[in-house]
Amino acid sequence: MPDRRKFVKSAFLSAGAIVAGASVRAGASTAGLPQDVSYNTLRNKPVVVSTWDFGKEANAAAWHVLQQDGHAVEAVEAGVKVPESDPQNQSVGYGGRPDRDGRVTLDACIMDHMYRCGSVAGLEHIKHAISVARLVMDRTPHVMLVGDGALQFALENGFRKEKLLTPTSEREWREWLRDNKYSPVNNIENRLPGGRHNHDTIGMLAMDNRGNLSGACTTSGMAFKLHGRVGDSPIIGAGLYVDNEIGAATSSGVGEEVIRIVGSHLVVEYMRMGFHPGAACRKAVERIARHNPISAKEVQVGFLAVNKHGEYGAYALQEGFTYAVKTDGINEVFSSEHLF
Ligand code: ASP
Repeated sequence: MPDRRKFVKSAFLSAGAIVAGASVRAGASTAGLPQDVSYNTLRNKPVVVSTWDFGKEANAAAWHVLQQDGHAVEAVEAGVKVPESDPQNQSVGYGGRPDRDGRVTLDACIMDHMYRCGSVAGLEHIKHAISVARLVMDRTPHVMLVGDGALQFALENGFRKEKLLTPTSEREWREWLRDNKYSPVNNIENRLPGGRHNHDTIGMLAMDNRGNLSGACTTSGMAFKLHGRVGDSPIIGAGLYVDNEIGAATSSGVGEEVIRIVGSHLVVEYMRMGFHPGAACRKAVERIARHNPISAKEVQVGFLAVNKHGEYGAYALQEGFTYAVKTDGINEVFSSEHLF
């Protein structure tokens, strides 16, 4: 069994020769790791990464906090509030697609560098689900509140009820009802007009100037899901995990597949074993494919991770998963490598 810590160390040593921001293919310096994953070998802080193209705008808000010497947990909350407020983003917050009963129910969680975490699931009428999750973390002895209890807690803490269902999402839901006979599907084949998926979450990970890591994850979940369905996104360990000694990971895609392998925690554990974040994500994706080879070909799951050195990477089941990176000299959206 090779000593993976040595691999990582040698990768870091060789990183000095690499231009900041470059992504390198696994080669001599990453011997023993999968050959078809691109590795960044930065040792950067601060850094913020998030899922999908819309992560770029969210990263800018998080970066602003980090530039003011803010804490990573503040940065990720501020960052993911951007897509939560955006009615054009139909998979997060305000404007999110509803469940099959026409109700917009939000899932979100947050975790800081001290293993503190908070989460809400099935939250209605409050667009900034992430801020409610943060309050669960900061002001209660609990980790997770769901449904009416989460709403009650939010209202008690000054949040105001809003209508989250926008005319566009309502129209898509009515079309879906007509064509799909009230029967939810997780499958990526279940595309909406314009070739879009019926899901996509923002998961964001940041490391601040102190070198502390935090993460946030927020979504309206699988569009047209059964009322009461909870995905991976608000589940600590599944949709998000942060271990400040090692790294942090988050996911997007079909939450049921991620929950089955407790995906983000698994990615962090692979990083603990010495895998680069990209390789750790790949190992988790392979775990899904191994457990469920048939359905894995039909669904999308992507993981995104960052380690204590500010290195990041992603890996997905299918083509199409993207992630946004902001750090000194880089402000880009990358396409993730994929298994199929
Ligand atoms: N993971 C989310 C869920 O299953 C959806 C997504 O990220 O695409 O609810």
